[in-house]
Parts: sequence; structure tokens; C-alpha cells
Amino acid sequence: MGVIMKKRTFYENVYEHFNVAANVLKLSDTEKEILSTPDKILSANLKLKMDDNLIRIFPAYRVQHNNSRGPYKGGIRYYPELSLTEIKSLAMLMSFKCALLELPFGGGKGGIEVNPKVLSRRELEELSRAYIRAFHCDIGPDRDIPAPDVYTNETIMDWMENEYSKIAGRETPAAITGKSVQNNGIPGRVDATARGAYYIIRRLINHIDSDGRLRVAIQGFGNAGYNIAKLLENDKKFIVVSVSDSKGAIYSENGLNADSIMQHKKVEGLIAGMYCPGSVCQREEHMHITNDELLRLDVDIIIPAAMEGQINRDNASKIKAKIIAEVANGAITYEAEKIINNKGIVVAPDILTNAGGVTVSYFEWYQNMNDERWNREEVYRKLEEKMNSALDEVEYVSEEYNVSMRTAAYIIATRRILASMDSGD
Ligand code: GLU
Repeated sequence: MGVIMKKRTFYENVYEHFNVAANVLKLSDTEKEILSTPDKILSANLKLKMDDNLIRIFPAYRVQHNNSRGPYKGGIRYYPELSLTEIKSLAMLMSFKCALLELPFGGGKGGIEVNPKVLSRRELEELSRAYIRAFHCDIGPDRDIPAPDVYTNETIMDWMENEYSKIAGRETPAAITGKSVQNNGIPGRVDATARGAYYIIRRLINHIDSDGRLRVAIQGFGNAGYNIAKLLENDKKFIVVSVSDSKGAIYSENGLNADSIMQHKKVEGLIAGMYCPGSVCQREEHMHITNDELLRLDVDIIIPAAMEGQINRDNASKIKAKIIAEVANGAITYEAEKIINNKGIVVAPDILTNAGGVTVSYFEWYQNMNDERWNREEVYRKLEEKMNSALDEVEYVSEEYNVSMRTAAYIIATRRILASMDSGD
């Protein structure tokens, strides 16, 4: 009789990824426990008067993981199936991500258990302001700096900053990043995650043999997925042949156009059903594939940019791509990664690949703290420098220890966090 292995939770997956590096570094159990246990878990039940005058309750969290390198930093997500363990895992990832990019921050993450798509604009604004009212004592430019994440955006950050400033009694733009440019935000923050990933991918393609344009499939068409599709579409080295949202994927041999897909999604609410003009495939049904089929496509690069756990032990062995650029936090489970590594696929791990977002958040915070203004070109240049040097280090350590890029990234970050804990900075 075969043994049925229990599926790991998101937290266990993040911990296992870290644990491989911790074992290479011969960390003690106490050190491992310290690095994987959050400093503080805040929770609140936000009460919101809905448009129909009924009051509804929305559970909300902020997890502060580790601040030995600086204030806690990380996004706030609005998601109906949100759980505290998910937020804990994401907060832990943020500590490692900030350390890897040498940002003067620790890690945090927050969220509200809500489907923002069914709220009116007034309800969404009220809920966002309620979040700040609930946690404002633990937030601030030197304490904990929230930012956007899944289903939150610059408008929500503007409301949050405004609420925070009202409570603080003075303008405090550095308390929140990812604000709109008109409201002390920074140019280039909106597509920073995608752009950072693009810089990494552009360099990683030197590792693979290919002739002609590299075929790319992108899973997820939120802010990161859409913007990365646009960046790749404008680069002659790549051709985006497939994209998806939670309901399904579309495929076109001749390449897809991100803006027309976005237009279709805005009108219809989903990607599936999209007819792609100019495709060799004139029959609509040939265009539609499932999310799982997208992962199995014969492409060069797969970019998971949806939710965690999408590449798992059930589908990892079917992947044909040569590179996986993990844009969504935790997209590849621990077990899937072992299968993928054995197949020789290059994996650019989440804490490196999607670090462009928090890196430009750091630039925004720095500007706000020092009353400076940088233009878009300067932001892009500084971001590229940061991403390149993180990748250089990851590649160096990966060779030095003969480990995967993920383990190398964790080794670098772990050393940095431990060093600042030791020095008590
Ligand atoms: N939510 C993004 C992340 O997971 C950005 C966080 C930030 O800008 O603080 O990295």
C-alpha cells in the first residue's frame, strides 16, 4: 500500500525552504526558532457599516516578524480566504527579502479577510481606514511601514496614509509606501515588482541555450503578471504565448497583447473567452487552456504570478520550461522544488525575483524621510543596480556552496539578519 503524504501548509513550505539554508549554515535549533517565529501578531475585527446599513465584521491582521535590521516592512493583502498562518509566512519571507536586497528593514505583512471586488468604493475606503485605526500604534516610519500586496493598490495606500497622518496630527508620508505619485509616491512603484523580475529574467536567460525568441507563459494577470507581460512584449528576445487568471488561460503561438487582454478582463471580468486577433489559431476553443495546461506548455520560461502553492508535487514533474521566475510569494512548494531542481530547471526564488516592489518602496520611504524627489529613470537605474547586485551575490553563493539559488538567497539573508541581531543594531 502506498503511503499518502500529507500536503505541507504554506508556513511549512516557507520554513522548509529556510531550513535547507539553516542546515548549510549549521544553525542551532534555537537560532532556527528565533528566525522563524514572529516578534508580534496583531489582530482585530474591523466593523464596517455596509451601504445597506448592516454592520459586517472583517478579521484583520498585521504580523511583525523581525526588526533587527530596521522597521518592519511589507504589504497588506485583501483576500477572502486569508489566514493568519499565510500572513505569518509572508511576514517571514519579507524579513529575508529585505535582508537579501540589503534594505534597512525587517519583515512584516498584513491583511484583511475580505473580497474587495464586492465592496463599493465607500466601503473599501472605510475598511482601509479602519485597518489603520486598529493598528496605528504599531505602524510608523520607524516602526512598521505597510505597502500594497494582493488586491490592494495606490488608492488604498493613499487612504491609509491620510488616516495615519490624521491620527498622528501631521503629514507622515513615510508611514506607508506604494502611494500615488501625486501623494508623495514614487514614479515606477506600480510596475516595480514586474520590472525587478524582468531584470532578473534578462540575466538568467544567459544560462539556457535557445535560438529565436524565448517563449514565456505567465500564470496570473494581476498587477505583477500584467506588467511583466508588457515588459516582455516590448523586448524582442521574448514572446509571451500564454497568460491566465484564476478562471483559465489563453494561448497564442504568435504572442499575446497585454493591453488588449487587460481591456477584455476589465469588461468581462475574466481572461477566458478572449479572442486574440492575429493569432494563427482562428478557432476560439484552441485558444483556451486550463491553468494546469499552462504550466505544462512547451515554453522556455514560466512566471507564476498568481498565488502561493501553484507549482506543487502534483504538477511539478510535468513542467517543461528551462527557467521558472517565481514572482508570486511562495508559488513553488518545497516538494515541487526538489522535483524541479532534479530536472535541472533554473529557479529564480520569490525573495529575489519579486523584490523589486519592496526595493522601490524603500526608495519611496527614503525620499519621504529626506524630502527628496527622484525621477522615473533614476528609480529604474537604482532598481536595476540593486537587483543585479543581489543576483550576483546569489549566483556566487550558489556556486560556493553548490546549492540552489533559493538556498543561496536564504543563506545570504540569514547571515545578515543574524549579524544584526548579534550586533544589537
Ligand atoms: N507586497 C510586496 C512584497 O511582497 C511589496 C512590499 C513592500 O513594498 O513593502 O514584496
